[in-house]
Amino acid sequence: MAYIKLNRENLYHNLNQLSLKSGNKIKLAAVLKDNAYGHGIKEIAQIVSQYGLTEAVVINNKEALSIKELFKNILILNDTPKKISNFSYAITSVESLKSAPKDVKLELKVDTGMHRNGIDIKDLNLALNIIKQKELNLVGIFTHFKSADEFDSSLAWQIDNFKEVKKLAINKGFTSIRFHSHNSAALLRTNSFSEDIARVGIAMYGYNELPAIYKKIELKPILSLWAKRVSTRELKKGQKIGYGGSFIAQKDMIVSTYDIGYGDGLFRGNSNNPLIVDNNLPILGRVSMDFISLESTKDEICIFNNAQNVAKHFNTISYEITTSLKAALKRVII
Ligand SMILES: *Cc1c(COP(=O)(O)O)cnc(C)c1O
Repeated sequence: MAYIKLNRENLYHNLNQLSLKSGNKIKLAAVLKDNAYGHGIKEIAQIVSQYGLTEAVVINNKEALSIKELFKNILILNDTPKKISNFSYAITSVESLKSAPKDVKLELKVDTGMHRNGIDIKDLNLALNIIKQKELNLVGIFTHFKSADEFDSSLAWQIDNFKEVKKLAINKGFTSIRFHSHNSAALLRTNSFSEDIARVGIAMYGYNELPAIYKKIELKPILSLWAKRVSTRELKKGQKIGYGGSFIAQKDMIVSTYDIGYGDGLFRGNSNNPLIVDNNLPILGRVSMDFISLESTKDEICIFNNAQNVAKHFNTISYEITTSLKAALKRVII
């Protein structure tokens, strides 16, 4: 059966690098949403907590409950608040503040320029008034950057906007809450991190999506995807492989079937421009739901060990490649 290998040493390496940026590992919040970007939430949560991280960020209650014992606090980005002592909930609109329960920890998300989620800065005063009036338990205010991974001035603009947010909140008496804004790209770019936590996702998994001038910090991908040989056959010159027969053997060749396909989250792509696996083997013909063909007799093949290369091939980003990997794939920590 196809499976995923997770490299503990590489994850520790990445966390070491990020700790140097944040000043302290305690300031790193592991973003484990979407099954830890497809890596496997339970496995990654276990490793980062053993490393010493105490903060996590997930998308919903189900994810939070699956790792509840491992962290001092888990920020849940998009779900209905539950009263669990180490959970805090992102509040992204004035509307949801009105119905928020009193006895759960809330973190207000403020829109400083991404314009997707979060309370508009001009409504911040109103939001903080409601919080005071209703005696809600506000423990944090945060924002998210729209293009910290692009070489433009919008990061500085959003940072300035967030400074205003902080000032306003502190003036209103919210002096003991935490403030956070940095994702991986912003943390990798900064030289003077001073916030309470940085929410790191992609960099922890080993990818630096920044333009080359910012790529001074070496990160190591922690995930590799492996498939096993199911059967081997001799193909005669002129014979075709797989659905549509889009690969035609140009010579007699030995071909094996391996047990990975788009049902596991490997992109199907275009068989005229096949993905190259295990350094030099092009996938022969179309990717099926559960199988591919390769000119190899190896019992095990590494499909990829760097999602960024695969992302380049499919014209997307590393996030999408790993996040597509199904939860059902077995995870092995090495
Ligand atoms: C996903 C996410 C992050 C992590 O972003 P990376 O680019 O992977 O570091 C941080 N904060 C929020 C609110 C997110 O949704």
